[in-house]
Amino acid sequence: MLELIDANPYTARAYRRAAETIRGAALPVADLVRSGRARDLRGIGPGIEQRLRELVETGEIAELAELERELAPDLVGLGRYLGLGAKRSVELARALDVRTAEEFREAAAAGRLRAVPGIGPKTEAQLLEGLFHESERRPRRGILLDRTRELVGGVAAVLEGEAAGDVRRWRDSCERLAVVCAAAEPRPVVERFAALPQVVAVIEEGERSAVGVTIEGVPIELLAAEPKRFGTALVRATGSPAYVAALEPLPDAPDEEGVYRALDLPWCPPELREEPFRGEPPALVALDEIRGDLHCHTTWSDGRASVEEMGRAASERGYEYLAICDHTPAVGAVRGLGPDDVRRQAEEIAAANELLAPFRILRGIECDILPDGQLDLPDEALAELDWVQASVHGGQRMPRRELTKRVEEALRNPCVRCLSHPKGRYINRRAENALDLERVFEVALEERVALEVNGLPDRLDLRGEHVRDALEAGVEIVCSTDAHSVRGLGNIELSVATARRGWATAERVVNTRPLREILRN
Ligand SMILES: [Zn+2]
Ligand SMILES: [Zn+2]
Repeated sequence: MLELIDANPYTARAYRRAAETIRGAALPVADLVRSGRARDLRGIGPGIEQRLRELVETGEIAELAELERELAPDLVGLGRYLGLGAKRSVELARALDVRTAEEFREAAAAGRLRAVPGIGPKTEAQLLEGLFHESERRPRRGILLDRTRELVGGVAAVLEGEAAGDVRRWRDSCERLAVVCAAAEPRPVVERFAALPQVVAVIEEGERSAVGVTIEGVPIELLAAEPKRFGTALVRATGSPAYVAALEPLPDAPDEEGVYRALDLPWCPPELREEPFRGEPPALVALDEIRGDLHCHTTWSDGRASVEEMGRAASERGYEYLAICDHTPAVGAVRGLGPDDVRRQAEEIAAANELLAPFRILRGIECDILPDGQLDLPDEALAELDWVQASVHGGQRMPRRELTKRVEEALRNPCVRCLSHPKGRYINRRAENALDLERVFEVALEERVALEVNGLPDRLDLRGEHVRDALEAGVEIVCSTDAHSVRGLGNIELSVATARRGWATAERVVNTRPLREILRN
């Protein structure tokens, strides 16, 4: 709400941080508030403490209730879904004298939009299309997988249903968000869905389905299937349209296994349900086959945790090893390690290894590939290390030939073990670079260099299709997180899922192997 009224951005951020602290607090926060100790919690200042006290004592926050009355979050959510900014939605609502999303829809259906100053016939047509054309319930652009997993997974958990749509296939950028529930009696499920805090407005409602939007304007579908058809609904809501169409007509079954059995097909992992496929799926690499992470950062460059903290967290995940790969100086924007730093870091790694044995922290580096293809550290420094990632950071826009030559040159260095985020994209923000992957695969194969499947939610690079091409060319991959914090290590599930989308089996993923095979030199 504070963001919608363009309040000081620091205020909104302070509330977010406080919310995170409260969510993660080990003690009941209400007790702390009552005993006047709320400010013992990190990030809770006097302003937020006062609001917390109000909430605990009265059950609500007056300022919030007032903002909700004034701004109608459901209208804002619906407006964002339609491509309107929050302010514009509020203005429109005022001009139409409506208070809720439902009233807005009624006003639009009655043809009142064209009477609003600034709304021409074209805009009106667009808004009506968005409001009433039911086949297109998509966000205005794809949403990152980590956000959609949290959103759809959260809704599914509360409704005791299954996350479906693009999220269940672990698409790098999701457009179809869906939850499927089994319900003999659909009404209560649809009502619970509409009342969820994540759903600010319901834009469509059927007997066994509904479409809600979030405050960001992201549509999310609910399907409340009859229990005896739950499997059928789940298959239909999970696969890509092409995949599902090729299986139709789908038999009724209470679970997915039943659907596939009735079709006389083996069950297919959701990650492979893109193109039509009726064959026997391979045994895809699984999360619990990963034995270590080979790309992460610490406070030595731009990470938030120390060497020991990262190592301990990796050990607690059940890993055998973790490679610390901080940046080198050419990365620019953040601190990078020169040869002396690398040697000093070795001492810290050795000390942490004594504490954490038999777990092993590896000495690694994320070494920039300079514009001429040389590496950003001298060979003697690289040769001391256990694991070398080579990365292009600056100059992603080089033409294809030049960039490919530059990367090829780096891969020829015998110290290099893996090429990081090969296509250099940031989902929704920066397109893939022009790197000739076919050529890179040839060189990687000759030089026994692996290609990374980077697990940062806005990278996921290589992406699934490219993983498949790499594996077909005979190249091996590494599933890495590029974690910059302890929590970032959790993105391994995004990396592994992306590898699975590329049909990867464990034998082809370097970090499913024991430590002695990683230390090949
Ligand atoms: Zn990088
Ligand atoms: Zn990195």
